[in-house]
Amino acid sequence: MRKGALLIISAPSGAGKTTICRKLLARRKDLKYSVSCTTRPPRPGERDGRHYFFLSREDFKRKIRRGELLEWAMVHDEYYGTPRRFIEDQIKRGSDVVMAIDVQGAMSIRRKHPAAILVFVLPPSMEELKARLAGRRDASEIVAKRLANSRGELAAAKDYGYIVVNDALEKAVDQISCILTAETLKTFRFDPTYLAPALA
Ligand code: 5GP
Repeated sequence: MRKGALLIISAPSGAGKTTICRKLLARRKDLKYSVSCTTRPPRPGERDGRHYFFLSREDFKRKIRRGELLEWAMVHDEYYGTPRRFIEDQIKRGSDVVMAIDVQGAMSIRRKHPAAILVFVLPPSMEELKARLAGRRDASEIVAKRLANSRGELAAAKDYGYIVVNDALEKAVDQISCILTAETLKTFRFDPTYLAPALA
């Protein structure tokens, strides 16, 4: 009836996009999650193949050379990338996919898939963002680097289709779920042969 849609969620580190994605996926059984590849080490509790595919730099670069990544970017001095095959299969199958990627990745996906739905999640304030980052068990220099990078990321929010402020988690999840529902019902997403009887 229609092809799958790509829902891209970006946010500065600590704005809550991982939790939002988890809640959204629990609520929307029709939605699939794109597991990214990264060269950064796993955080406590993160599992290979579930949260990320954790790769060596050598393996990551091999994937780039073989064209296995739909997009990739250097974020906070580590490589991150989206496996191409999974996305293409889901689109063909008509399944919608959510991906939590940075602003460079989002722009690059939009060039290849102009109908991608781009949502930028804002923290309620910079103070709250700092507090959330400090609460993680990352090393202090990693926290400082992420905070410094957040300014550039926030400046990219204006290029997104939607802004969601994460001042209340359930509300933010509701809003993104509504965006997804409305966007996937847009006329252009439907196969014209499906619409033909209605237009006759
Ligand atoms: P984290 O290390 O906190 O999980 O993610 C760091 C940043 O990398 C976040 O902004 C996250 O959205 C981004 N990221 C995660 N996966 C990908 C990906 O596949 N491609 C790109 N471009 N960015 C990603």
